[in-house]
Amino acid sequence: MTGQPLRILLLDDNPDDRAMTIDALRRTFSALEIVQIADAESFGRSLEAGDFDLALTDYQLHWTDGLTVLRAIKDAKPDCPVVMITAAGSEEIAVEAMKAGLDDYLVKSPRRWDRLPTAIQSAWELARQHWALGEAETWYRSVCEREAAGSLELGQVLAEIVALASQVTNSDYASIMLLDESGNVSLSAENPSDVPSPGSHARDEDLTNWIVRSHETIIVDAIGDDGRLIPDPGEGAPHLASPGLVASGTRALAGLPLMIRHRLRGILYLHSLHPGAFRDQQPLLSTFSKQIAIAVENARVFQAEQQQSRRLTLLADVSRIVATTLDINAMLQEVAESIRHHFAYPIVGLFTLDDEGQTLIRRGYSGISMGPPKPPALEAYSQPIGQGIIGHAARTGKSYLTGDVTTDPYYKPPDRAPMRSEACIPMLDGGRLVGVIDVESDRPADFDEGTRSLLEAVADIVSVGLRNVSLYEESQHRLQELTLLNRISVGFGSVLNIDTLIDGALEGLRELANADRTYFSTVDSDARAWERAHESVAPDIEPHIGMTGTLDNWRIEFERLLTGQPFAVFDTTFDPRVEDTREMYRLLGVQSMLLAPVQFGNRLYGALGVEYCRERHAWHPDEIRLLKGMAHQLELALDNLHLFEEVQVRADELAGALARLEELDHLKDEFIQNVSHELRSPLAIVRGYVEMLRTGELGELQPEQQKPVDIIARRVRMLGDLVQDITLILEAEANPPESGAVPLSAVAQSAVEDFQIAVEQAELTLQAEIPPGLPPVNGSFIHLRRLLDNLLSNAIKFTPAGGTITVRVRREGEQVALDVSDTGVGIPSDQLERIFERFYQVDGSTWRRFGGVGLGLALVKEITETFGGHVTVDSEVGEGSTFSVVLPTAVDPDLGNE
Ligand code: ADP
Repeated sequence: MTGQPLRILLLDDNPDDRAMTIDALRRTFSALEIVQIADAESFGRSLEAGDFDLALTDYQLHWTDGLTVLRAIKDAKPDCPVVMITAAGSEEIAVEAMKAGLDDYLVKSPRRWDRLPTAIQSAWELARQHWALGEAETWYRSVCEREAAGSLELGQVLAEIVALASQVTNSDYASIMLLDESGNVSLSAENPSDVPSPGSHARDEDLTNWIVRSHETIIVDAIGDDGRLIPDPGEGAPHLASPGLVASGTRALAGLPLMIRHRLRGILYLHSLHPGAFRDQQPLLSTFSKQIAIAVENARVFQAEQQQSRRLTLLADVSRIVATTLDINAMLQEVAESIRHHFAYPIVGLFTLDDEGQTLIRRGYSGISMGPPKPPALEAYSQPIGQGIIGHAARTGKSYLTGDVTTDPYYKPPDRAPMRSEACIPMLDGGRLVGVIDVESDRPADFDEGTRSLLEAVADIVSVGLRNVSLYEESQHRLQELTLLNRISVGFGSVLNIDTLIDGALEGLRELANADRTYFSTVDSDARAWERAHESVAPDIEPHIGMTGTLDNWRIEFERLLTGQPFAVFDTTFDPRVEDTREMYRLLGVQSMLLAPVQFGNRLYGALGVEYCRERHAWHPDEIRLLKGMAHQLELALDNLHLFEEVQVRADELAGALARLEELDHLKDEFIQNVSHELRSPLAIVRGYVEMLRTGELGELQPEQQKPVDIIARRVRMLGDLVQDITLILEAEANPPESGAVPLSAVAQSAVEDFQIAVEQAELTLQAEIPPGLPPVNGSFIHLRRLLDNLLSNAIKFTPAGGTITVRVRREGEQVALDVSDTGVGIPSDQLERIFERFYQVDGSTWRRFGGVGLGLALVKEITETFGGHVTVDSEVGEGSTFSVVLPTAVDPDLGNE
């Protein structure tokens, strides 16, 4: 602004006055352009072109009057100041003109030439200030609009302020600095780009400190070559400009504190190369600085709010990701993207520590492409702990922020385009390092305490997530382990095909442990050699199944296994314990290995092994436990197998014995059948003759002959009964007798009558309880009669003289029961089951005196069951016995069910 000539439109009819006016103005204004207007036509042209900054008009014009001119100008250029020369004593005109917007007036008098330049100057100055404030107002409104639209950026606002300051004030160079709570510069902007910069020389620490302390505006009209400040800023303030400021060529200076609610928020500096540039601008500058202070505060609050809400959404977002993702890579990738999405940093990387705790592996990355031709795959980038900024943060476990990586002692230049500032936040789980969050920016000092605390909160959430995922994975792993063990134990328990089961178990184990080989080697019985009998190998891994070796050559391993303990080696190339076998491990390509003994009986039966060939593997106690568990299962399986084989042999032996017994039984039956058959005819003949002898048909018997013949007759009858029993029992077994409806009462009645004599001879009483009207049962008369004969003979046989025998027929539900009770010797309860067996007799030595061969009850049971019934006995030793035969009633359509 200062360099431009002031363009004045001069309307005056009097050429002399015009010359005087121009002369007066030229004495004051160095750069001046004056357009003289003497008629309506030239006025119209100028008005249309609008190429003037101020108008000076006489009231009295021959072609119009000053008031009309004023109105025309204010219509065309409302901001253009107009000064009028009025005739003496015409105050009314002056008042009316002021109402129409006149900026100043001079009364036409000889002294007016002296006052003219000052009037023009102040009108111009006022108009300019008015305009400047208008510009500032417009700008302020745009700040408010952007705030409402949510797109206010503090840095941008500062840049606009310095641009605006250069435009609306007399400054050649402007700078603004914002101060944080502790008075440090938090953000600054300076030097509109189209003006040469006095650069950092223009910074004057003393002046700044003074403004920070006093909150006073400082306006320096001039700076002497010796640095003296004119006017002197007052007591306590610096009196000299810094040499840098002097050297920068600054000749006038304004330092304006930006105050918000009595607190200093920043300072705006205006510099000019022209002395006095800010001399009369105090009101403008104070208004201006108030306005920008508010705008800056708005932007600052807005930005803080924006940042806070971005922080909150980031934290919410990260929490959501962590809570919903169970895959580490996916989780870290999403978190990296979320950080970048919320803060637009060019590089965000999330690293975790590898298993050995030595290297950080990048597992989540979001940002600019990392160099041609395409971004590297995830995890492709890793950094050893302690190296670079990331490694440093990891090693110390403390957040590390650097405003400028190029001067950072830990910085290691990457092979991609370098960034400017970097923040590394370690992720800790209970104080233990689990990973690092790395954020980089292409702007210097882009990370502040706010970023640090935010990223630390993110790191905390992510490390909780990492722990959750690892707990989840661990429990999944445990579950798989248990499933495998369970499968193995169930499989081994069934001992179907132990080879298949071992193969299956080895494969399951290898997959679970992600190992390269799992195997089972057996040791021969004299503990000299081993052989790898079963094996499961990963794809591309050379199999070693069938490999053999001597235990002498693997002494250490063997001795260790003999103790019953597993043997785990993390690194076969270094472990001193495998010194002797190191070379063999190398040849076999084994980097890490784990062995567990399998014992059988008291000897080492073999060993289960796990091997890693492509990388070393740190053995987790869980894995060792799992292998021990498997070995134990295998031991049990071998034990089972052994038992099973023994049982098998015994079972075979028993089956053979049983077959032989069955054959003998069969032979015996056949023999008895033959004998009975052969006995029947001769017995019938003997019986016939004996009866003839006994009844005297073959001549009277002598009295001493009669008794022996009776005995012979009785014994022959018994013999006949026996043969009949044998025949019936064997026949019933071979071909069941034909059955029909038999009235059980009739059978019982006939037996009771036939046994009357025998009962009397035994000095017993026989009672019969045979009600009429009972339904017939299913059976055959001969067989049922034989059944009853046997029960009655037994009752007589086992009842001492004086006792009573009762035959009872009764209904039992839908069936008919026959009871034969006696008051005889009874049967011990432990014999009750057995008496129905063929040839069984209760303790022969005690009861032999009763005779018989033990077939009678067997026949009773056989007959009863043949007809669909059952027999039971109820007995008390010394009290008597009751045999009950229950038979189903016959289903005879003619007789009905009754
Ligand atoms: P046997 O009478 O020919 O010995 P049984 O099969 O008829 O053979 O009887 C088997 C055994 O049951 C008899 O030896 C006897 O010990 C016992 N027993 C059978 N009936 C009675 C009974 N009424 N009282 C006591 N013991 C009996």
